[in-house]
Amino acid sequence: MSANIGKILGIPIRIHWTLWLVFLLVAWSLADGYLPIVYPGLGALTYWAIGAVSALLLFISVLLHELSHSYIAKKNGLPIARITLFFFGGVSEMSEEPKDAGLEVRMALAGPLTSFAIAGVLGALWYVSRLVSAPVPIIAILGYNAVINVALGAFNLVPAFPLDGGRVLRGSLWGRSKNLLKATRNATRVSEALSLIMIAAGLLLVVATADIFNGLWIIFLGWFIRSGAETSLKQTEMTEALHGISVGDIMTRDLLTVSPDISVQKLVTDYFLIHPHGGYPVVRNDKLEGVVTMSSVRSIPAEKREMETVAQAMVPYERIVTISPNASAAEALQKIAEKNIGRLLVTDGDRILGMITRGDLMKTIRTRQDLSL
Ligand SMILES: [Zn+2]
Repeated sequence: MSANIGKILGIPIRIHWTLWLVFLLVAWSLADGYLPIVYPGLGALTYWAIGAVSALLLFISVLLHELSHSYIAKKNGLPIARITLFFFGGVSEMSEEPKDAGLEVRMALAGPLTSFAIAGVLGALWYVSRLVSAPVPIIAILGYNAVINVALGAFNLVPAFPLDGGRVLRGSLWGRSKNLLKATRNATRVSEALSLIMIAAGLLLVVATADIFNGLWIIFLGWFIRSGAETSLKQTEMTEALHGISVGDIMTRDLLTVSPDISVQKLVTDYFLIHPHGGYPVVRNDKLEGVVTMSSVRSIPAEKREMETVAQAMVPYERIVTISPNASAAEALQKIAEKNIGRLLVTDGDRILGMITRGDLMKTIRTRQDLSL
């Protein structure tokens, strides 16, 4: 779904497939519609070149917009896991939600303000380029991107979650009610209403005026807002359901451990064939030395399993993902999701205290939601 393109400010930047779609749509709509009308008399190739450069500038504008959110977040000690650029915006994936309503509002506002600032700079350049009679393609690119950045800033201010405007709305509601979950639910309701209106308006445009391009565009935006709002609500609900629970509260304490000295063959017959677990901590004298999983076993050819020991097959201590028992359960969930793993070992230095799995966390979330805790 998304491709990595590098790191900025230490944050991995990824591109969602919808952005490629938008890149094409923008270049196409400019080259085939807007440009020949506004700047007649240029060749088709020139129109496409202007369209492509403008689409690229739009992409950079979206990136700068998104980086401004991340900058405020990082400055306030909120870690950003990654930035994913979607069409018409991006999502900075925070490892934690903002700690207070004021920060959420400030963070959300940074993006649209950045877009308006970019629009101001490009608009000024556009003005100068016209004064000095610069080549038409340059005027066209500057003019279009100034306008599109105003649109980008304005669109993101629409009070629909997960757009920036939705976050401003949630932050304000949160500041007033002091209840994050309630604020998120209300902001999501507003978002869903707005998205339905957009989808209906898009359909109407297609049916009534046969304006298929703009109609589909609006339907697409409505759908984007709707799915984004649902995801945000789910995320908040999950984090809130784990509120106040530490890893130590729900971890499994009695673990079946394996000695590093037994053979891989013995590990298979005495552990994997008997017990239902997908992996075992490797422990010697109460010290954690590594983890051995099904894939560790698979990496050793069958005929060598009699000779090789668990110590040779295991993932060594340095490479396993651990968590402290004092960490919050929400943090464990985040770590598991981020690294895409099934379990975390709970350790105090190299001493193993227990294990926490994705399943444990999901069960806690479901139970608490069932009991409306
Ligand atoms: Zn934004």
